[in-house]
Amino acid sequence: MDINVLLDQIQANDKRKDRYSLNLYRFLRKKPHYHQVFLHCGIAGQEHWDPERTLVPAIFVGLGDAPFILGARLSEIICKGGSTQTAAHALFDHCVEITDAFWARYIEIGKCAIDPEHTLYADSDRYAEVEETRRCRWCGRIEHVQEELQMQRRRVWVPMQKVCVVGAGS
Ligand SMILES: [Zn+2]
Repeated sequence: MDINVLLDQIQANDKRKDRYSLNLYRFLRKKPHYHQVFLHCGIAGQEHWDPERTLVPAIFVGLGDAPFILGARLSEIICKGGSTQTAAHALFDHCVEITDAFWARYIEIGKCAIDPEHTLYADSDRYAEVEETRRCRWCGRIEHVQEELQMQRRRVWVPMQKVCVVGAGS
């Protein structure tokens, strides 16, 4: 993976506005040698990357240098961008490298590669809505509205009823 080609392709510009994470771009531009991607199998609860699941907390971006991964969590990078603190995480043995598959998917569908379940980004311009249907502008996924009745059991505190004790002699 040539980092300059990658940077060129994932640059958030006007034409592909918002499809790519500006913070992820800024992080890579600042630390171009930290561009390997790893999945922490323990956190993900699976041995392989599943491109259909939103696994952000389990993804690390950086440089693999066994037993360490030098870098940061993807979740932090997409929040902090170029100011993300990097560290040596002793996680290398718990991770699988997903660099090529991840970047290929990210180039193709942008932030939906980070959030394929469509639960993370609530950007107002992510979707084009027409009545009961919406289409994701980044990956093309089409969704429709479905109504669900939600019933929840909950605990609430209420005042005790005064108990009238009728005893002997009354
Ligand atoms: Zn999408």
